[in-house]
Amino acid sequence: MARIFCVANQKGGVGKTTTTVNLAAGLAKIGQRVLMVDLDPQGNATMGSGVEKRKLELTVYDVLLESATVPEARVTSKACGYDVLGANRELAGAEIELVGVERRETRLKEALAVVDGEYDFILIDCPPSLSMLTLNGLCCAHGVIVPMQCEYFALEGLTDLVNTIKQVHANLNKDLQIIGLLRVMFDPRITLQQQVSEQLKTHFGEKVFDTVIPRNVRLAEAPSYGLPGVIFDPASKGAQAFVSFASEMVARMQRLEAATPAP
Ligand code: ADP
Ligand code: MG
Repeated sequence: MARIFCVANQKGGVGKTTTTVNLAAGLAKIGQRVLMVDLDPQGNATMGSGVEKRKLELTVYDVLLESATVPEARVTSKACGYDVLGANRELAGAEIELVGVERRETRLKEALAVVDGEYDFILIDCPPSLSMLTLNGLCCAHGVIVPMQCEYFALEGLTDLVNTIKQVHANLNKDLQIIGLLRVMFDPRITLQQQVSEQLKTHFGEKVFDTVIPRNVRLAEAPSYGLPGVIFDPASKGAQAFVSFASEMVARMQRLEAATPAP
């Protein structure tokens, strides 16, 4: 059974897409079977996985509108080692087209059930909003990974996300929980970042991942080559951090599964 995670934070530019594609590549590198789902109409995770979004005939949009299945719409990124259910501008229309249709929040969940046995991890890159698209992601996920920059306002936006997750947990998806907060773009030379990092640990304890992703220019350069940093420059500090994060995720899952009895 695949473990499904949303990478979410309603702020833009906090590192969601970078986290999604590099975690996908890191997991693939340590032998996990991965599907990456791009739920952002910007299609950055699609392009960042070496898939040309404008040339895609079928995308997650067709899956949400039930005009294609996941096996029909997914493509394999050979260079990255994982499968991609891509997105492009067309997805922006789904928000409106889903209004009024039945089971609109659970479309993705139902569609992913078909490929559940084929993957160890399904990672969903969410758009920077708490929209119907993000809701579809949250409805099918076992957990949410929240990338955060250790800046002064980092905690502010978190309240809305935590409340949304609580509501989805209560009404639509009993499995949903925050798996962890990931500190990204971290610069240890900046005192404020160290302070916010400590605050995060005080507030959220175990929920803060041990791995810290440093600010690293190679991670920022990689998308223009259509690759995650983990593949583009495996020796870089950023790539190494994401591979460590992949191992931490696998270990965390094993601990969680050992703690919850099988149904
Ligand atoms: P989001 O998906 O939340 O909008 P992105 O992952 O696209 O955020 O990241 C925003 C910008 O920051 C991008 O230009 C990306 O390349 C850059 N970036 C992300 N993580 C890092 C990092 N660890 N070091 C340097 N640049 C980063
Ligand atoms: Mg993004």
